[in-house]
Amino acid sequence: MNLKDLHKLVDQEFTERMPVMFVGHGNPMNAISDNSITQGWHDAALSLENAPKAVLCISAHWETKGTYVTAMETPRTIHDFYGFPQALFDVQYPAPGSPELAKFVSEEVKSTSVLLDHEWGLDHGTWSVLVKMFPEAKIPVFQLSLDYTKDAQYHYDLAKELAFLRDKGVLIVGSGNVVHNLRMARFDENPPAYDWALEFDATVKSLVENRDHNELINYQNLGSSATLSIPTPEHYLPLLYTLALQGNKEVASFFNEEMAFGSGSMRSIIIS
Ligand code: ZN
Repeated sequence: MNLKDLHKLVDQEFTERMPVMFVGHGNPMNAISDNSITQGWHDAALSLENAPKAVLCISAHWETKGTYVTAMETPRTIHDFYGFPQALFDVQYPAPGSPELAKFVSEEVKSTSVLLDHEWGLDHGTWSVLVKMFPEAKIPVFQLSLDYTKDAQYHYDLAKELAFLRDKGVLIVGSGNVVHNLRMARFDENPPAYDWALEFDATVKSLVENRDHNELINYQNLGSSATLSIPTPEHYLPLLYTLALQGNKEVASFFNEEMAFGSGSMRSIIIS
């Protein structure tokens, strides 16, 4: 084997498909806590065979009219919440951006216009998780927004067009929550989860296991447990981005199978 062929072989090994993830992010305080959830995120990052070349996050917390991708060199850490301790506002996640990959995404996606954004940065749906997954903040991170004017099918179809990134070593992470009803949250210590929350979380698990993506796209037909679990779609839609990227032979594994505040699910998924 000559040197050129050897390089080719090495290249092939390192460009193996990156897994794709969905993370339940929940309470921003996880960013400055050590608990079973943050350990789960940490372990998920450790389980990757190769370090990602970049991370693309689809966060529940960036909703726009039209679809945007962050294209700045140095995305700011956005503290998009209030009423939390100063220590949380002090957290910075100084990962570089990836203007090149952002441009690539805007060129490669054909079904819709993906516009370059220079204003956003990294919201807590992204950094509160990545600070535990990749604490060194050395891996470039960019975000894709959720167009709030579009239906679930649009998001699922758009996600499929991002598949090429996986072969370039980009880790795509959907960040939301399968069950997310803040209005009904219980703030007492160790609150029991609502029956409807447990029911819907289990429904999603089983539909994901059976690869029944159509049922998950048409979640509005899944009855009252779905209506209560998804009062607004932004925390659920990132899950559809992750599922749309599942290859034919790939399997979904679950971690952080816990409920939070009675009306939230921290269920997270890795597909490889
Ligand atoms: Zn959130």
